[in-house]
Amino acid sequence: MIHVTNLHKRFGDLEVLKGIDLAVNKGEVVVVIGPSGSGKTTLLRTLNLLEEPEKGEITIGNQSINFDEKLTKKKKVQFRKQTGMVFQSHNLFPHLTALENVMEGPVTVQKIPKDKAKKQATTILEKVGLGNKLDVYPHQLSGGQQQRVGIARALATGVEVMLFDEPTSALDPELVGDVLDVMKELADEGMTMVVVTHEMSFAQEAADKVIFMDEGTIIEQGTPDQVFTFTKMERTNQFLNRLR
Ligand code: ADP
Repeated sequence: MIHVTNLHKRFGDLEVLKGIDLAVNKGEVVVVIGPSGSGKTTLLRTLNLLEEPEKGEITIGNQSINFDEKLTKKKKVQFRKQTGMVFQSHNLFPHLTALENVMEGPVTVQKIPKDKAKKQATTILEKVGLGNKLDVYPHQLSGGQQQRVGIARALATGVEVMLFDEPTSALDPELVGDVLDVMKELADEGMTMVVVTHEMSFAQEAADKVIFMDEGTIIEQGTPDQVFTFTKMERTNQFLNRLR
């Protein structure tokens, strides 16, 4: 579903991604861990072109982009449509209700008729446990509920891949569980997911593959057991020990 080859990204003098290779099968959940500044967010953002690498190739589904070639706007738009992204802090429209927030993409981008979009959005909000909050505005929701509306929004356009960038790190601890539960449910339903998170319990339970990044490279990857229990690399060990 996702194939990344030799991806390079720099910000000025700083080389943030130093030749990343990554493969994610359909329905797999990949959790990316690593120290702050190691390039996790940048990698995730390149997958839906919020950052453009200088070099390398990304294939998602049946669309490929080679960054050695010039990208047309049309191609970028098409490519982006395949992935939904959930950020650290929600980016909901404050003046729209939960339902309207979720309907917005399908109505304005996909031109789906409003009544149909409303039905779909209602179903998705019920799925994330917010069927009783349809007409509520973001400021009337808890941080965890807002994050779940964010997930519903990303799902609403029928994406094939979900990208999560530290979706629970801005939440009060008691609100983290509900968001992780929604993510686990999505994973169980077979959604292909790439998740940057510090929630090791989520990685242990939900990940098919864990990737440890440091200084712009993938140092180690494998099943949660391979990476957490039978750790091969000293750098991974040091990182994990600091969390334990
Ligand atoms: P992580 O998610 O692992 O914490 P990031 O991908 O956010 O790492 O950042 C990797 C490095 O790139 C950091 O040193 C960060 O300061 C730098 N960086 C990230 N985004 C930008 C940007 N837009 N401009 C300049 N430097 C950036």
